[in-house]
Amino acid sequence: SEELIRRSEKLSLVGELAAGIAHEIRNPLTSLRGFMQLYMKEDIDGTKKLRNDVMLSEIDRINEIVSELLVLAKPSNEGSELRDLVQLLNHVTRLFEGQANLYNVQIMTEFDANLPLIQCQSSINQVFINVLKNAIESMPKGGDLIIQAKKLNDNLYIRIKDAGNGIPQEEMDKIGNPFFTTKETGTGLGLMVSMRIIQNHKGTMRIESEVGKGTTVEVILPIVK
Ligand code: ADP
Ligand code: MG
Repeated sequence: SEELIRRSEKLSLVGELAAGIAHEIRNPLTSLRGFMQLYMKEDIDGTKKLRNDVMLSEIDRINEIVSELLVLAKPSNEGSELRDLVQLLNHVTRLFEGQANLYNVQIMTEFDANLPLIQCQSSINQVFINVLKNAIESMPKGGDLIIQAKKLNDNLYIRIKDAGNGIPQEEMDKIGNPFFTTKETGTGLGLMVSMRIIQNHKGTMRIESEVGKGTTVEVILPIVK
């Protein structure tokens, strides 16, 4: 429908704008960070060091937000190739081994054999990083995190299932809105960016959650023949 088209036009405009701004912010930020580190070397007494550390970590936080915005760049097929998502999921899982250990989270994978390759961009990596990070962060007391992958008809289904604190019904609508976060140091950009990337791949992302039981994020990607 027309409304839908207008909405997607708006979205890609927002994407272009975000990417432009992100690039513009990146450069001064990098030089700022460099100078901060120089100052840090000059005087290392207590309060000054503390202030410097705060400033550095604030700069890093801006950088993190900017990086997430960069992914919103206009959809394109750049760098799109056939990828083995099982291999990719195993790789992302390994990245989180340390944090999972720290949280007492046990990551288990259940992948069907002989899954087909998926035509996708490397940004797909970021989706699983964001979703896995959320899953682990939702289980401060530990628990099982199950990652499943299976093929059904012409789609690949990837499920990330946590046993964390879940999402209250009244928050469900806000999930994925830019800057919506319930975390003290969250950016509230992870899911928005992830949804956007999946959308660029003509896929779907579904979130199901029950407070006290956990959350399941399902990513459905088309298998292109
Ligand atoms: P951030 O992680 O920086 O808060 P996200 O976009 O990744 O931003 O997530 C937005 C919000 O969605 C989180 O703050 C949290 O409230 C909720 N959320 C996302 N994933 C989960 C999950 N697996 N379990 C519970 N809550 C979640
Ligand atoms: Mg997150």
